Amino acid sequence: MDYNKLASLLFPHIDKTIEDYERIYPKRELPEGANVTRFAPSPTGFLHIGGLFAALISERMAHQSSGKFILRIEDTDKKREVEGGIDKILEGLLAFGIKIDEGFTDFDTETGNYGPYQQSKRAEIYQTFAKHLVEEGKAYPCFCTEEEISAIREAQEKDKLLPGYYGKFAKCRNLTFEEIEEKVKAGLPYVIRLKSPGQEDKRISFKDGIRGNIEMPENIVDVVILKSDGIPTYHFAHVVDDHLMGTTAVIRGDEWISSAPIHLQMFYMLGLKAPKYAHIAPIMKEDGNGKRKISKRKDPEAAVTYYSEEGYPVDGVIEYLLNLANYTFEDFRRNNPKAHWTEFSLAMNKMSTSGGLFDLAKLNDICKNKIASMTAKEVYDLATAWAKTYDEELYNLLTKDEKYSVAMFNFDRNPDKPRKDIAKFSEVRNAFSFMFDEIAEFNYEYPENVEKADMKAICEEYINIYGEDDEKDVWFDKMKDVAEKCGFCREVKEYKKNPEGFKGHVGDVSSVIRVAVTGRMKSPDLYAILKTLGKDRAMERINKFILSL
Ligand code: GLU
Repeated sequence: MDYNKLASLLFPHIDKTIEDYERIYPKRELPEGANVTRFAPSPTGFLHIGGLFAALISERMAHQSSGKFILRIEDTDKKREVEGGIDKILEGLLAFGIKIDEGFTDFDTETGNYGPYQQSKRAEIYQTFAKHLVEEGKAYPCFCTEEEISAIREAQEKDKLLPGYYGKFAKCRNLTFEEIEEKVKAGLPYVIRLKSPGQEDKRISFKDGIRGNIEMPENIVDVVILKSDGIPTYHFAHVVDDHLMGTTAVIRGDEWISSAPIHLQMFYMLGLKAPKYAHIAPIMKEDGNGKRKISKRKDPEAAVTYYSEEGYPVDGVIEYLLNLANYTFEDFRRNNPKAHWTEFSLAMNKMSTSGGLFDLAKLNDICKNKIASMTAKEVYDLATAWAKTYDEELYNLLTKDEKYSVAMFNFDRNPDKPRKDIAKFSEVRNAFSFMFDEIAEFNYEYPENVEKADMKAICEEYINIYGEDDEKDVWFDKMKDVAEKCGFCREVKEYKKNPEGFKGHVGDVSSVIRVAVTGRMKSPDLYAILKTLGKDRAMERINKFILSL
């Protein structure tokens, strides 16, 4: 068969060659060892936490080697696409600080010399590569109808054979030029299939960046490379794009491992060097006694929007994911409490092959530490930014008096042992409601071991001696004076030696004032709260408490 004639019949409109494209997209000039990686989602309008995980790992592997990270949109499957899908993906990645060098780098912005970065705009490129394979006798048109393909599948199922279009099932493999020409001229739809040189008893092996050596049977199926509308399958688009874009490492979900033999075969048939592969295990979730993949349908935390809505600090979520990727991140953080997460060197070979277990408690813990390590002003800025979108009332309260709110976020924020009360900004409302009369709820938790009459006496004494300008030690001495006056012991230690001699100790006295002022038995530093509220409001609250007794 004259394959050139066949290629011209099938692709009359294609006048470029692979070499032309290699000139348009020349080899990149990057330092030795630099990785070019990409995140290549379908624009389904939903960024899964596993997607953010994969993007983060790809971004890290690129940037920690002075390479490039690309965002490419794989929209060859129109059924999966939703309107605004690209923006939703970008929104997610940008919100979590993933730095994209090339491709879709921002809303309505494509950057880089290797584009277009959207597969639906690259049809002619794929067709050029397919034409080349036809010219070499390595691909052919297949006119089988859906019914014929189903019949093949059924026959294979019945005989328990490998499914697919191969061997005696590959009817169109041996059509003559005349037969093909007749069908094309009659306008019959066709796909282009790879003429697989694979043999059933042969195996291929490759080195996976996470799993090490993998050995699998060769691909023997004549897989479709172009669909009947001229749009490529994922397999073919991946090979063409990652070649022309100069991708050095393909980091993707492990659902693609089984397709790796097809991809390696395609690179081989096109005479191209395959990139390195690394297949990431999915994030898992505990379910009953077993575990399962974290699921879009069952788990709200599968969507990255969940973390934004809840107000998790972005760096906390990223650090949690780095932790999930490499358990050594925890040591890095312990040894370098102030370092930015980009200073951590991620290692592919330390990643789990069975899938890290999603652990909300751990995420909360990391985020608590993260918020505790911020300055009060940083917490204020992030909390108000979150509240602006998700809690308007809180936003108005926080911004009404910035100084007041910053002072509030500064409670117990001393550098040695900062208070770790919030993991996410949606917790600000509850944690600090007592600081805002508009939302404070005074359902007093009365201290159990103090009589109501004594509470009243303590409050009355306290009102008499509270001095707004008192330094902390003076303030506490006064608290001891109140204790003494009301029959409580000045010192806890002394009380413990002789509990019978007193009604309680100074700690009980401060509990009464704490409850009177905040409504709660537990709160940040009482002295700071009183100072921030100001004398009038503090005394007003104590009076109100007296009335409740
Ligand atoms: N578009 C593919 C997916 O969403 C990408 C796989 C890859 O990274 O190559 O699963």
